[in-house]
Amino acid sequence: MMVRLADTVETPDFTEEEMDLTSCDLAAQAEGDPIDYGNGIHAVDALYVRPRLAAIHLVTANGRVAVVESAHNAALPRVESALAALGFDRGAVDYLFLTHVHLDHAGGAGAMMQAFPNARLVVHPRGARHMADPSQLNAATAAVYGAENAALRYGTLLPVPADRIIATTDRQVFALGGRELEILHTPGHAKHHQCIFDRASRGVFTGDLFGLCYRELDRPDGPFVIPTTTPSQFNPADLQRSIDLVMSLAPSALFLTHFGRILPTGAYLAQLRRMIDGHVAAALAERNRGDRREEYIRQGLASLLRSELVACGRGDVVDQAMDLFAEDIELNAQGLEHWLAHGAEGAPAG
Ligand SMILES: [Zn+2]
Repeated sequence: MMVRLADTVETPDFTEEEMDLTSCDLAAQAEGDPIDYGNGIHAVDALYVRPRLAAIHLVTANGRVAVVESAHNAALPRVESALAALGFDRGAVDYLFLTHVHLDHAGGAGAMMQAFPNARLVVHPRGARHMADPSQLNAATAAVYGAENAALRYGTLLPVPADRIIATTDRQVFALGGRELEILHTPGHAKHHQCIFDRASRGVFTGDLFGLCYRELDRPDGPFVIPTTTPSQFNPADLQRSIDLVMSLAPSALFLTHFGRILPTGAYLAQLRRMIDGHVAAALAERNRGDRREEYIRQGLASLLRSELVACGRGDVVDQAMDLFAEDIELNAQGLEHWLAHGAEGAPAG
């Protein structure tokens, strides 16, 4: 089912009407229906931790389906009902694409692969073995979230049979009912991160590369974005290069796992890059704090976010936003501490 194709198929961008779905998005979601973005692309709310935190995207073409991300085990029934609502049975799923193997993206992959008998799991080669044997992932996740919390969030991770896993190569193209989905290896958030470029719509499924957008914080002038620098492979230079790579394709839309469709406007990208630089600066500023460094980084990130919210004219939602970002601040501080402790590869000299 894998092919390499040289030419991009020219098809129209998303129409203005399709791009103006914000209010419909929320209404549809309240009823549990998938969000319809047009062009055969839908989002299912995984209800991971809370509504609109983690999206699972469906791409459909000529009766075939690709699922992008699995989220956690508990998301599977939601994906199954979305498929049923769209008129697909379990056998119609050809692929489960994972952007990376952090468990808010990949925790339910084993269960999903059992549910969809014709699906192949498409994952970066550095992530493939962890999907076949999730024991290391379990341990790493317990280290980040604590064992009890990890078990509550994800349940039991099921292994995926190795012969159903495709370890990707960069720029590999997958055919889906005549549609072409191209893999882009995009390190930065993690070494094993990949994006999926849909040549038909020029939409890109970006995983965690383009940050976190909690839609509660959307304003008429656009979303509010922060990067995710979680342990243990954050590398800011790679992250910026990978963003450049995706933008060089002139994408029509970005489909974020956290959460949903974003237009790649100049303002959005400027804020994303400014916040990546801000996170790096907040870590470097505390470089020599010794044992309490992570705590200082955490404080630095909190004040960075507060100032950014105020600078964006969102001073009215600072308290609400800080609640939403509490766990991200914690994880981002851990990831930055890990980055500093391991030589801060990609940091500016000095
Ligand atoms: Zn994530």
